[in-house]
Amino acid sequence: MRKIAKSALDSLFAAMSESKKVYLPVDGEGGARYQLWTEGTVLSEAVNTVRSAKDFFFPQTENLVEFKMEGKKLDVIDVRRETEDFVIFGVRACDVRSFDILDRVFLGAPVDTYYKNRREHGVIVSLACNKPAETCFCQTFGIDASAPAGDIVCHMTDDTLFLDAKTEKGEKLLATLEGVTEPCADSAADEQKALIRSRLDKLPLKGLTADKFGGDKTKEFFNDPAWASLSESCLGCGTCTFVCPTCQCYDIKDFKTADGVRRFRCWDSCMYSEFTKMSAGQPRLTQKERFRQRFMHKLVYYPANNEGIFGCVGCGRCLAKCPIQMNIVKVMKKLGEGGDKND
Ligand code: SF4
Ligand code: SF4
Repeated sequence: MRKIAKSALDSLFAAMSESKKVYLPVDGEGGARYQLWTEGTVLSEAVNTVRSAKDFFFPQTENLVEFKMEGKKLDVIDVRRETEDFVIFGVRACDVRSFDILDRVFLGAPVDTYYKNRREHGVIVSLACNKPAETCFCQTFGIDASAPAGDIVCHMTDDTLFLDAKTEKGEKLLATLEGVTEPCADSAADEQKALIRSRLDKLPLKGLTADKFGGDKTKEFFNDPAWASLSESCLGCGTCTFVCPTCQCYDIKDFKTADGVRRFRCWDSCMYSEFTKMSAGQPRLTQKERFRQRFMHKLVYYPANNEGIFGCVGCGRCLAKCPIQMNIVKVMKKLGEGGDKND
Protein backbone atom coordinates (compact mmCIF):
# COMPACT_ATOMS: atom_id res chain seq x y z
CA MET A 1 0.00 0.00 0.00
CA ARG A 2 1.09 3.57 -0.68
CA LYS A 3 -0.11 6.97 0.48
CA ILE A 4 -0.05 10.62 -0.48
CA ALA A 5 -1.10 13.76 1.38
CA LYS A 6 -4.55 14.96 0.33
CA SER A 7 -3.03 18.40 -0.23
CA ALA A 8 -0.78 16.84 -2.91
CA LEU A 9 -3.54 15.21 -4.98
CA ASP A 10 -2.74 17.46 -7.92
CA SER A 11 0.73 15.93 -8.16
CA LEU A 12 -0.82 12.45 -8.09
CA PHE A 13 -3.17 13.23 -10.97
CA ALA A 14 -0.35 14.95 -12.85
CA ALA A 15 1.82 11.84 -12.49
CA MET A 16 -1.02 9.58 -13.65
CA SER A 17 -1.67 11.87 -16.60
CA GLU A 18 1.86 11.40 -17.87
CA SER A 19 0.93 7.97 -19.23
CA LYS A 20 -2.87 8.01 -19.42
CA LYS A 21 -5.84 10.31 -19.58
CA VAL A 22 -7.33 10.64 -16.11
CA TYR A 23 -11.04 11.23 -15.49
CA LEU A 24 -12.46 12.10 -12.11
CA PRO A 25 -15.74 13.35 -10.59
CA VAL A 26 -15.94 17.14 -10.54
CA ASP A 27 -18.74 19.26 -9.00
CA GLY A 28 -20.82 21.28 -11.42
CA GLU A 29 -24.33 22.52 -11.99
CA GLY A 30 -26.75 19.77 -11.02
CA GLY A 31 -24.14 17.54 -9.38
CA ALA A 32 -20.84 15.76 -9.98
CA ARG A 33 -19.78 14.54 -13.40
CA TYR A 34 -16.67 12.78 -14.67
CA GLN A 35 -14.28 15.20 -16.30
CA LEU A 36 -10.81 14.96 -17.81
CA TRP A 37 -8.20 16.04 -15.27
CA THR A 38 -6.17 19.12 -16.12
CA GLU A 39 -4.14 21.18 -13.70
CA GLY A 40 -6.36 22.73 -11.06
CA THR A 41 -9.28 20.29 -11.52
CA VAL A 42 -10.75 19.59 -8.09
CA LEU A 43 -12.00 16.11 -7.10
CA SER A 44 -15.65 16.12 -6.00
CA GLU A 45 -16.58 14.68 -2.62
CA ALA A 46 -20.05 13.67 -3.83
CA VAL A 47 -20.91 10.02 -3.23
CA ASN A 48 -22.47 9.59 -6.66
CA THR A 49 -21.88 11.20 -10.01
CA VAL A 50 -25.13 12.14 -11.77
CA ARG A 51 -24.29 9.82 -14.66
CA SER A 52 -22.52 6.64 -13.74
CA ALA A 53 -19.09 5.54 -14.91
CA LYS A 54 -20.67 3.10 -17.38
CA ASP A 55 -20.42 5.90 -19.97
CA PHE A 56 -16.70 5.15 -20.29
CA PHE A 57 -17.31 1.64 -21.55
CA PHE A 58 -20.82 1.93 -22.96
CA PRO A 59 -21.23 5.51 -24.24
CA GLN A 60 -24.67 6.98 -24.81
CA THR A 61 -24.11 7.09 -28.57
CA GLU A 62 -21.40 5.61 -30.78
CA ASN A 63 -20.85 4.94 -34.43
CA LEU A 64 -20.61 1.24 -35.28
CA VAL A 65 -19.92 1.13 -39.00
CA GLU A 66 -20.25 3.25 -42.14
CA PHE A 67 -21.35 2.34 -45.64
CA LYS A 68 -20.15 4.41 -48.59
CA MET A 69 -21.93 4.09 -51.90
CA GLU A 70 -20.60 5.08 -55.30
CA GLY A 71 -22.80 3.93 -58.13
CA LYS A 72 -23.19 0.20 -57.61
CA LYS A 73 -20.06 -0.01 -55.42
CA LEU A 74 -20.58 -0.37 -51.69
CA ASP A 75 -17.73 -0.01 -49.20
CA VAL A 76 -18.15 -1.16 -45.61
CA ILE A 77 -15.94 0.97 -43.37
CA ASP A 78 -14.91 -0.30 -39.96
CA VAL A 79 -14.82 2.81 -37.76
CA ARG A 80 -13.36 1.07 -34.69
CA ARG A 81 -10.10 2.47 -33.36
CA GLU A 82 -7.88 1.15 -30.59
CA THR A 83 -8.81 3.11 -27.47
CA GLU A 84 -6.10 5.01 -25.59
CA ASP A 85 -5.31 3.90 -22.04
CA PHE A 86 -7.28 5.85 -19.48
CA VAL A 87 -7.87 5.98 -15.74
CA ILE A 88 -11.22 6.49 -14.04
CA PHE A 89 -10.48 7.81 -10.58
CA GLY A 90 -12.94 7.84 -7.68
CA VAL A 91 -15.33 5.10 -8.79
CA ARG A 92 -17.57 4.04 -5.90
CA ALA A 93 -18.07 0.43 -4.85
CA CYS A 94 -21.54 0.21 -6.42
CA ASP A 95 -20.33 1.45 -9.79
CA VAL A 96 -17.34 -0.90 -9.75
CA ARG A 97 -19.77 -3.80 -9.28
CA SER A 98 -21.85 -2.48 -12.18
CA PHE A 99 -18.93 -3.23 -14.50
CA ASP A 100 -19.22 -6.93 -13.59
CA ILE A 101 -22.89 -6.80 -14.51
CA LEU A 102 -22.17 -5.08 -17.82
CA ASP A 103 -19.28 -7.47 -18.55
CA ARG A 104 -21.62 -10.43 -18.38
CA VAL A 105 -23.75 -8.82 -21.08
CA PHE A 106 -21.12 -7.36 -23.39
CA LEU A 107 -18.26 -9.83 -22.95
CA GLY A 108 -20.37 -12.96 -23.14
CA ALA A 109 -20.64 -14.58 -26.59
CA PRO A 110 -20.92 -12.86 -28.97
CA VAL A 111 -18.33 -10.46 -27.55
CA ASP A 112 -19.06 -6.76 -28.08
CA THR A 113 -15.68 -5.64 -29.39
CA TYR A 114 -16.51 -1.95 -28.98
CA TYR A 115 -17.08 -2.43 -25.25
CA LYS A 116 -14.21 -4.90 -24.84
CA ASN A 117 -11.70 -2.51 -26.34
CA ARG A 118 -12.57 0.24 -23.89
CA ARG A 119 -12.75 -2.16 -20.96
CA GLU A 120 -9.25 -3.44 -21.67
CA HIS A 121 -7.79 0.05 -21.80
CA GLY A 122 -9.53 1.43 -18.70
CA VAL A 123 -7.94 1.32 -15.25
CA ILE A 124 -10.42 1.56 -12.38
CA VAL A 125 -9.24 3.46 -9.32
CA SER A 126 -12.03 3.11 -6.78
CA LEU A 127 -12.68 5.23 -3.71
CA ALA A 128 -14.40 4.02 -0.54
CA CYS A 129 -17.47 6.06 0.46
CA ASN A 130 -16.70 8.16 3.51
CA LYS A 131 -20.22 9.52 3.70
CA PRO A 132 -22.70 7.10 2.13
CA ALA A 133 -26.02 8.78 1.32
CA GLU A 134 -29.43 7.97 2.77
CA THR A 135 -30.42 6.63 -0.65
CA CYS A 136 -27.56 4.09 -0.70
CA PHE A 137 -28.34 0.40 -0.30
CA CYS A 138 -25.42 -1.40 -1.95
CA GLN A 139 -25.29 -3.70 1.10
CA THR A 140 -28.56 -5.25 -0.09
CA PHE A 141 -26.56 -6.77 -2.93
CA GLY A 142 -23.53 -7.78 -0.87
CA ILE A 143 -21.38 -4.77 -1.80
CA ASP A 144 -19.10 -3.30 0.86
CA ALA A 145 -18.67 0.44 0.28
CA SER A 146 -15.80 0.45 2.79
CA ALA A 147 -13.84 -2.00 0.63
CA PRO A 148 -14.65 -1.54 -3.05
CA ALA A 149 -13.22 -3.67 -5.83
CA GLY A 150 -11.09 -2.04 -8.54
CA ASP A 151 -7.59 -2.12 -10.03
CA ILE A 152 -6.45 0.26 -7.30
CA VAL A 153 -8.60 0.73 -4.19
CA CYS A 154 -8.36 4.07 -2.37
CA HIS A 155 -9.35 5.29 1.06
CA MET A 156 -9.36 8.96 1.93
CA THR A 157 -9.01 10.41 5.42
CA ASP A 158 -9.08 14.10 6.33
CA ASP A 159 -5.47 14.48 5.28
CA THR A 160 -4.29 11.34 3.42
CA LEU A 161 -5.17 9.21 0.41
CA PHE A 162 -4.21 5.51 0.65
CA LEU A 163 -3.79 3.49 -2.55
CA ASP A 164 -3.83 -0.30 -2.65
CA ALA A 165 -3.21 -2.10 -5.97
CA LYS A 166 -5.41 -5.17 -6.44
CA THR A 167 -4.72 -6.24 -10.02
CA GLU A 168 -1.82 -6.36 -12.45
CA LYS A 169 -3.15 -3.23 -14.14
CA GLY A 170 -3.33 -1.51 -10.78
CA GLU A 171 0.19 -2.57 -9.79
CA LYS A 172 1.56 -1.22 -13.07
CA LEU A 173 -0.13 2.12 -12.57
CA LEU A 174 0.88 2.38 -8.91
CA ALA A 175 4.49 1.63 -9.87
CA THR A 176 4.46 4.76 -12.04
CA LEU A 177 3.39 6.82 -9.02
CA GLU A 178 6.30 5.95 -6.75
CA GLY A 179 7.80 9.40 -7.24
CA VAL A 180 4.80 11.13 -5.68
CA THR A 181 3.59 8.51 -3.17
CA GLU A 182 5.29 6.80 -0.24
CA PRO A 183 4.93 3.27 1.13
CA CYS A 184 2.81 2.58 4.20
CA ALA A 185 1.55 -0.41 6.19
CA ASP A 186 -1.18 -2.56 4.64
CA SER A 187 -3.31 -1.79 7.68
CA ALA A 188 -2.96 1.99 7.30
CA ALA A 189 -6.56 2.46 6.11
CA ASP A 190 -8.16 0.08 8.62
CA GLU A 191 -9.41 2.83 10.90
CA GLN A 192 -11.07 4.59 7.99
CA LYS A 193 -12.68 1.33 6.85
CA ALA A 194 -14.10 0.79 10.35
CA LEU A 195 -15.46 4.35 10.42
CA ILE A 196 -17.19 3.81 7.06
CA ARG A 197 -18.66 0.49 8.21
CA SER A 198 -20.12 2.16 11.29
CA ARG A 199 -21.77 4.75 9.02
CA LEU A 200 -23.09 2.06 6.68
CA ASP A 201 -24.70 0.36 9.67
CA LYS A 202 -26.78 3.47 10.34
CA LEU A 203 -28.18 3.93 6.82
CA PRO A 204 -31.99 3.94 6.63
CA LEU A 205 -32.01 1.17 4.00
CA LYS A 206 -29.54 -1.02 5.88
CA GLY A 207 -32.16 -3.73 6.55
CA LEU A 208 -33.41 -4.03 2.96
CA THR A 209 -32.80 -7.55 1.64
CA ALA A 210 -33.27 -9.08 -1.79
CA ASP A 211 -33.86 -12.56 -0.35
CA LYS A 212 -37.38 -12.79 -1.75
CA PHE A 213 -36.18 -12.18 -5.29
CA GLY A 214 -34.07 -14.26 -7.64
CA GLY A 215 -34.03 -16.17 -10.90
CA ASP A 216 -36.80 -18.58 -9.98
CA LYS A 217 -39.40 -15.95 -9.06
CA THR A 218 -41.00 -15.17 -12.42
CA LYS A 219 -44.26 -16.98 -11.62
CA GLU A 220 -44.44 -15.47 -8.16
CA PHE A 221 -44.16 -11.86 -9.25
CA PHE A 222 -45.09 -11.57 -12.94
CA ASN A 223 -48.84 -11.35 -12.36
CA ASP A 224 -48.66 -9.61 -9.01
CA PRO A 225 -51.54 -7.08 -8.78
CA ALA A 226 -49.15 -4.58 -7.18
CA TRP A 227 -47.63 -3.70 -10.58
CA ALA A 228 -50.78 -1.73 -11.41
CA SER A 229 -50.49 0.69 -8.49
CA LEU A 230 -46.69 0.82 -8.58
CA SER A 231 -46.64 1.84 -12.24
CA GLU A 232 -49.73 4.04 -12.19
CA SER A 233 -47.87 7.37 -12.04
CA CYS A 234 -44.81 6.37 -14.09
CA LEU A 235 -44.23 9.01 -16.76
CA GLY A 236 -42.18 6.71 -18.97
CA CYS A 237 -39.48 9.38 -18.99
CA GLY A 238 -36.61 6.87 -18.86
CA THR A 239 -34.61 8.90 -16.33
CA CYS A 240 -34.19 5.86 -14.08
CA THR A 241 -32.66 3.85 -16.91
CA PHE A 242 -30.33 6.60 -18.08
CA VAL A 243 -28.82 7.26 -14.65
CA CYS A 244 -28.63 3.55 -13.82
CA PRO A 245 -25.12 2.08 -13.95
CA THR A 246 -26.41 -1.37 -14.90
CA CYS A 247 -29.06 -0.59 -17.56
CA GLN A 248 -27.63 -1.67 -20.86
CA CYS A 249 -30.41 -1.59 -23.49
CA TYR A 250 -29.62 0.12 -26.76
CA ASP A 251 -31.08 0.69 -30.18
CA ILE A 252 -29.23 0.57 -33.53
CA LYS A 253 -30.18 3.08 -36.18
CA ASP A 254 -28.99 4.16 -39.62
CA PHE A 255 -28.34 7.78 -40.49
CA LYS A 256 -28.17 8.85 -44.12
CA THR A 257 -25.03 10.81 -44.95
CA ALA A 258 -24.17 12.61 -48.21
CA ASP A 259 -22.63 9.51 -49.78
CA GLY A 260 -23.80 6.62 -47.69
CA VAL A 261 -25.08 5.49 -44.34
CA ARG A 262 -23.74 5.75 -40.82
CA ARG A 263 -24.90 3.03 -38.44
CA PHE A 264 -24.87 4.01 -34.79
CA ARG A 265 -26.18 2.78 -31.51
CA CYS A 266 -27.67 4.77 -28.67
CA TRP A 267 -29.02 4.00 -25.26
CA ASP A 268 -32.65 2.98 -25.22
CA SER A 269 -35.04 2.48 -22.33
CA CYS A 270 -37.49 -0.30 -21.59
CA MET A 271 -39.65 2.47 -20.08
CA TYR A 272 -40.26 4.00 -23.54
CA SER A 273 -43.42 3.17 -25.44
CA GLU A 274 -41.49 2.42 -28.63
CA PHE A 275 -38.96 0.12 -27.00
CA THR A 276 -38.88 -3.29 -28.74
CA LYS A 277 -41.58 -2.12 -31.16
CA MET A 278 -41.46 -4.38 -34.20
CA SER A 279 -43.23 -4.53 -37.52
CA ALA A 280 -45.21 -7.41 -36.02
CA GLY A 281 -46.41 -5.17 -33.21
CA GLN A 282 -45.57 -3.96 -29.73
CA PRO A 283 -44.98 -6.70 -27.14
CA ARG A 284 -45.52 -4.38 -24.15
CA LEU A 285 -48.57 -2.25 -24.81
CA THR A 286 -49.00 -0.52 -21.47
CA GLN A 287 -46.72 1.39 -19.11
CA LYS A 288 -47.48 -1.23 -16.48
CA GLU A 289 -45.86 -3.90 -18.68
CA ARG A 290 -42.87 -1.69 -19.43
CA PHE A 291 -42.43 -0.76 -15.78
CA ARG A 292 -42.67 -4.42 -14.76
CA GLN A 293 -40.04 -5.35 -17.33
CA ARG A 294 -37.46 -2.99 -15.83
CA PHE A 295 -37.79 -4.31 -12.30
CA MET A 296 -38.31 -7.96 -13.23
CA HIS A 297 -35.13 -7.75 -15.28
CA LYS A 298 -33.09 -6.44 -12.35
CA LEU A 299 -34.58 -8.70 -9.70
CA VAL A 300 -35.55 -11.90 -11.53
CA TYR A 301 -34.48 -12.24 -15.19
CA TYR A 302 -30.88 -11.05 -14.80
CA PRO A 303 -30.19 -13.35 -11.82
CA ALA A 304 -31.87 -16.19 -13.73
CA ASN A 305 -29.22 -15.90 -16.42
CA ASN A 306 -26.26 -14.87 -14.28
CA GLU A 307 -25.80 -17.27 -11.41
CA GLY A 308 -28.12 -15.42 -9.09
CA ILE A 309 -26.41 -12.04 -9.39
CA PHE A 310 -28.92 -9.19 -9.25
CA GLY A 311 -28.96 -6.46 -11.88
CA CYS A 312 -29.04 -3.62 -9.33
CA VAL A 313 -26.09 -2.36 -7.27
CA GLY A 314 -28.02 -0.16 -4.85
CA CYS A 315 -26.42 3.09 -6.00
CA GLY A 316 -29.61 5.00 -5.18
CA ARG A 317 -29.57 7.15 -8.34
CA CYS A 318 -33.10 6.16 -9.32
CA LEU A 319 -34.26 7.06 -5.79
CA ALA A 320 -32.78 10.52 -6.15
CA LYS A 321 -33.78 11.26 -9.74
CA CYS A 322 -37.23 9.83 -10.51
CA PRO A 323 -39.63 12.80 -10.87
CA ILE A 324 -42.48 10.87 -9.21
CA GLN A 325 -40.34 9.32 -6.45
CA MET A 326 -40.84 5.79 -7.71
CA ASN A 327 -37.88 3.45 -7.49
CA ILE A 328 -36.61 -0.08 -7.06
CA VAL A 329 -36.70 0.11 -3.25
CA LYS A 330 -40.44 0.85 -3.28
CA VAL A 331 -40.93 -2.00 -5.74
CA MET A 332 -38.94 -4.43 -3.60
CA LYS A 333 -40.79 -3.46 -0.45
CA LYS A 334 -44.20 -3.70 -2.03
CA LEU A 335 -43.60 -6.98 -3.83
CA GLY A 336 -41.31 -8.65 -1.38
CA GLU A 337 -42.29 -7.51 2.04
CA GLY A 338 -45.99 -8.21 1.95
CA GLY A 339 -47.37 -4.67 1.86
CA ASP A 340 -50.97 -4.03 0.87
CA LYS A 341 -50.67 -4.73 -2.82
CA ASN A 342 -53.94 -3.13 -3.81
CA ASP A 343 -53.52 0.35 -2.40
S1 SF4 B 1 -39.97 5.13 -12.80
FE1 SF4 B 1 -39.66 7.37 -12.61
S2 SF4 B 1 -37.74 7.84 -13.67
FE2 SF4 B 1 -38.40 5.78 -14.33
S3 SF4 B 1 -39.58 6.13 -16.23
FE3 SF4 B 1 -41.07 6.11 -14.52
S4 SF4 B 1 -41.26 8.27 -13.93
FE4 SF4 B 1 -39.39 8.15 -15.18
S1 SF4 C 1 -31.92 0.30 -10.27
FE1 SF4 C 1 -31.58 2.28 -9.23
S2 SF4 C 1 -30.41 1.76 -7.38
FE2 SF4 C 1 -30.30 -0.04 -8.74
S3 SF4 C 1 -28.38 0.25 -9.87
FE3 SF4 C 1 -30.03 1.16 -11.12
S4 SF4 C 1 -30.10 3.36 -10.55
FE4 SF4 C 1 -28.89 2.25 -8.97
